[in-house]
Amino acid sequence: MTAPFHYVDGRMHAERVPLARIADEFGTPAYVYSRAALEANFRAFDEAFASLPHLVCYAMKANSNLAVLNVFARLGGGFDIVSGGELARVIAAGGDPAKVVFSGVGKTAAEMRAALAAGIRCFNVESAPELERLAEVAAAAGRRAPVSFRVNPDVDPGTHPYISTGLKENKFGVDFASAPALYRRAASLPSIRVTGIDMHIGSQITELRPCREAAAKLLGLVDALARDGIPLEHVDVGGGLGIRYRDESPVPLHEYAAMLAGLMRGRRETLVLEPGRRLVGDAGALLTRVEYLKRGSRSFAIVDAAMNDLLRPALYDAWHPVDAVAPRAGPAETWQVVGPVCESGDFLAHDRELALAPGDLLAIGAAGAYAMAMSSNYNARPRACEVLVDGDRVHLVRRRERVDDLFAGESIAP
Ligand SMILES: *Cc1c(COP(=O)(O)O)cnc(C)c1O
Repeated sequence: MTAPFHYVDGRMHAERVPLARIADEFGTPAYVYSRAALEANFRAFDEAFASLPHLVCYAMKANSNLAVLNVFARLGGGFDIVSGGELARVIAAGGDPAKVVFSGVGKTAAEMRAALAAGIRCFNVESAPELERLAEVAAAAGRRAPVSFRVNPDVDPGTHPYISTGLKENKFGVDFASAPALYRRAASLPSIRVTGIDMHIGSQITELRPCREAAAKLLGLVDALARDGIPLEHVDVGGGLGIRYRDESPVPLHEYAAMLAGLMRGRRETLVLEPGRRLVGDAGALLTRVEYLKRGSRSFAIVDAAMNDLLRPALYDAWHPVDAVAPRAGPAETWQVVGPVCESGDFLAHDRELALAPGDLLAIGAAGAYAMAMSSNYNARPRACEVLVDGDRVHLVRRRERVDDLFAGESIAP
């Protein structure tokens, strides 16, 4: 497959569709996703583990558009959810609740009831009090809740502190030392069925070593539990594999799969995987138009997308590629690419060499993950539309928000 976003005769396309055509038809800012890229990413992941019993549960917080979920559901994917809202999205998108694992440190009783009623595959329990609450909710509903504990292997994933989740000081998971006692407690509760174990050590990981170290620790614990009379059905190694934004070297999938296949050799547990970014990150771009060029000691290209549309640069100082949809021949200048929001942190990119004129279209690349999903209405800005490109067809998969959508739930006090 060619890269999903590529130039044909000096015009950037998504698959076979010129991005300029999408901007004309649907306006900007617009998120554009490539169906071929989503499918290729899922298949690559799934096929890398073909030699093992496994289930790929897409961590949908990365991008929860129904059309994206539906693409993965049709390929047999499961989902890693972190809220009741995400469960409702899975069901609306045609996903199979029996392939859903439910992560998150703060599940409410109502979310637990909804997930039990839907018949999800497993609750990834993150604390002792959560286990007790789940046991009560399940007993009241006359059900047995399938449980795996998310354990914290205390391994440094070597990534940004905001997206590192597997260290002792993080809020996630139960610590390794207390896990056996929790499993014994869970095994004694009639409304709980112990099914597995889970971890997730961080995001945008670009080294194999922390993944191997954490998975090996996890399997050591599985063996100890089996000796204690608590055999498990599945081992969930979480997500976290990184992608290339700038010059990172992502872990090749075949190396990751070979590492896990080596550790799983001779074992009977099903392997569960929770990739998010790796399935969607490079399959999306944010299309935006230059409104003004403001030249000075620092020159600003003010575009119609902003931090409310794409928060990653402001939040993590993340770097995204920025390319002209129709590059100009003229001399390049150095631009700060910024949005209209009233915050100095409202930038999309710093110091980019581009030849620009007002009205030009820019494509902000690698914007399929944690992009639209983290958007907001800050500054009363309606959220962008989302389109899914499929060959030479374009499907509007979320219409642009209207200003009156923004205050539809509000009222004025008498
Ligand atoms: C966010 C998250 C993932 C996915 O992380 P990526 O870095 O996007 O692969 C997987 N599992 C859990 C529990 C998560 O919170």
